[in-house]
Amino acid sequence: MIRAYPPRQCKATHVTIGIIGAPIRRISRPRIPDSNLNDDQLLRYSRHILLDELGIEGQEKILRGHALVVGAGGLGCPAALYLASAGVGTLTLADADEVDATNLQRQILHTEARVGMAKVDSAAQALAALNSTVRVIPRRERLEGAALEECVAAADVVLDCSDNFATRYAVNLACLRNKTPLVSGAAVRFGGQVSVFDFRRADSPCYHCLFPDGAPVAEERCAVTGVFAPLTGIVGSLQAAEALKLLAGVGEPLTGRLLLVDSLTQTFRTVAFSRDPDCPVCGAVKSTTPLPGHNSCSHHNCSTGKKHRT
Ligand SMILES: [Zn+2]
Repeated sequence: MIRAYPPRQCKATHVTIGIIGAPIRRISRPRIPDSNLNDDQLLRYSRHILLDELGIEGQEKILRGHALVVGAGGLGCPAALYLASAGVGTLTLADADEVDATNLQRQILHTEARVGMAKVDSAAQALAALNSTVRVIPRRERLEGAALEECVAAADVVLDCSDNFATRYAVNLACLRNKTPLVSGAAVRFGGQVSVFDFRRADSPCYHCLFPDGAPVAEERCAVTGVFAPLTGIVGSLQAAEALKLLAGVGEPLTGRLLLVDSLTQTFRTVAFSRDPDCPVCGAVKSTTPLPGHNSCSHHNCSTGKKHRT
């Protein structure tokens, strides 16, 4: 019998699966006695649980996870949507701005009716409507100093969805100090980048290894240069994917790799980079010597980062 997709039945120990135009089949999944998921959760996250790499154990880790999303704009909106839909237990969202009309082209958590509202409050409303079981902590501020340290320390993974280098360097340093994995994303015009800095690993490079500040690269912000709307969705979704993998402990994150997206040609390519042993940021933290100021690194010798700038 051919039935329409999606199927309507899905019970705790039996999951109905199907693909478009194909007969529905029911498969049995053994009940896991020590599962902490209730029936609603088993149903809601059944498409994750069906994945061998995730299963119930991976979904439980996601449900227990706490993600900090820095920026509720073009990248933060799609990233937060997928984190919430996937069931991440706690989401801290930080952004100091209010929704304005120019945001609506790409910042898909916000609506016409919420122009003028704080972005974090607008985002919290949208996420609550999507998944009321997720605890959303809105922080209407540009995180820095002790507040940034506090939020990073409380999180299991951090998504840098900001649009400026000052924030990226500060988030990198806070994540490095707290050994919290960082998923970094950027999107300008038709070009995007994603990478992971997993500070739980001793060999992980940091953001500064890749992009040493003081290098002759002009900061490009979409408010000035423009940005292709779906590109922010692509990059933000990639960030969510990396964050979920890190929370669940599955797959191979983009640690030591920079994913470059060109939406004009729809080309994806990955370049490898490694930790710079002379990096004044991660080198200083790891050797516990005093950290330099962010503007004191203009002679930093990291050819890898310069080579990969876009
Ligand atoms: Zn470094």
